[in-house]
Amino acid sequence: MDFSLDDEQRAIRDTARAFIRKEVVPLEHELLRRERAGQPGIERSELRELQLKARKFGFWGLATPAEHGGMDLPALMQSLIWTEVGHTLVPFRFGGEADNILFHADSAQQDEYLRPTIEGERVSCFAITEPGAGSDAANIKLSARQDGDDWILNGEKTFITNGNDADFAIVVAVTDKDKGVRGGGTTAFLVDREMGWRSEFIATMGPGGPASLVFDDVRVPSRNILGELGQGFELGMKWIGKGRYIIPSHALGIGERALQMAVDYANTRVTFGKPIGENQAIQWMIADAETELEAARWLVLRAAWTVDQGMDPRHSSSMAKLYGAGMINRLVDRVMQIHGGMGYTRELPIERWYRQVRLLRIYEGTDEMQRLIISRDLLRGYTKIGGHLA
Ligand SMILES: Cc1cc2nc3c(=O)[nH]c(=O)nc-3n(C[C@H](O)[C@H](O)[C@H](O)COP(=O)(O)OP(=O)(O)OC[C@H]3O[C@@H](n4cnc5c(N)ncnc54)[C@H](O)[C@@H]3O)c2cc1C
Repeated sequence: MDFSLDDEQRAIRDTARAFIRKEVVPLEHELLRRERAGQPGIERSELRELQLKARKFGFWGLATPAEHGGMDLPALMQSLIWTEVGHTLVPFRFGGEADNILFHADSAQQDEYLRPTIEGERVSCFAITEPGAGSDAANIKLSARQDGDDWILNGEKTFITNGNDADFAIVVAVTDKDKGVRGGGTTAFLVDREMGWRSEFIATMGPGGPASLVFDDVRVPSRNILGELGQGFELGMKWIGKGRYIIPSHALGIGERALQMAVDYANTRVTFGKPIGENQAIQWMIADAETELEAARWLVLRAAWTVDQGMDPRHSSSMAKLYGAGMINRLVDRVMQIHGGMGYTRELPIERWYRQVRLLRIYEGTDEMQRLIISRDLLRGYTKIGGHLA
């Protein structure tokens, strides 16, 4: 069994690493200063500039097929790069990307939505959650009623990332109540903001915030159906599935950076005449953090590998998301503890991570939903204990 990277994987990973450390990490000081002053840490235009700079290094569209100008990297490689991205607290991501389900667009939709999104000219958001349907996504009520060659959308979506900035939304709506959500009764629509939906920012404990979207008789032409009529829920689950190994991949990067800060601090902060790292209490926190970080790494890489093997990745991705999200919360908590009062200040990134990583246990499937999936798979015999080696 070979746990190492091949030369090509290492070269790509190292180039991403060099870019993040040279071009993005130096912006953190200013980001923290602006946020302390109550301003946005980084402007969209500044992020865009970084993405275009990365494009010159060849980093454009990690998951985007080559025919659309992307790198079309295997999931494992994407995971490794997202870990590098996690090293910076700047909310950076490489450009040239689009929601995975937007690739279901037909050729007219590709011109109007997909390509401009890849190029960064248009901003999308994905909306399935509603005030009465979060974990229980199959309980969505936002309705789409056919009227001639149009559909009329009514209802509300909530907690939508980018909902306040997006100029179009991918909205999963109920098109046939009788068929039910799992029986082909939902459809995904591409809905421009100009078609009439409104958004309201929701303040959260993390940096930035999602929005609620209100649809009040919003008229959408049939040509804006994404994929097939009746395929909405399926596309929604596909969108969510991708995040389940990318989210913990990103968390690994945060964990590596934060743990290194703790190690450095433990070696230099002196109390009672010796570095705090000489105390067993501190050593144990470091040991537990490193052990859990490594455990999460192999769960994440196995989930990504499962995608690349063309196997059903749901079980392994749920384990990676569940464990990775919990791990990073415990790790950042320990790193804050090791830094004492300094960890609690806004001079260092730790308190920001502390707020930011809490979300990981909630969105794109709560801890409880991941546990539900993992246990159900075993209880119903869909998967074997021991995974692919069983
Ligand atoms: C910042 C942020 C960004 C988001 N971005 C998006 C987005 O871009 N698009 C989108 O569509 N959605 C988005 N979401 C929504 C997110 O996916 C949901 O908040 C999440 O799925 C949980 O749903 P809920 O908030 O309705 O909680 P609920 O489903 O009401 O759950 C409340 C609690 O009960 C638990 N629970 C529920 N059912 C069970 C059960 N059967 N057994 C045990 N425990 C249970 C849950 O785990 C949770 O702890 C975002 C949320 C946030 C906070």
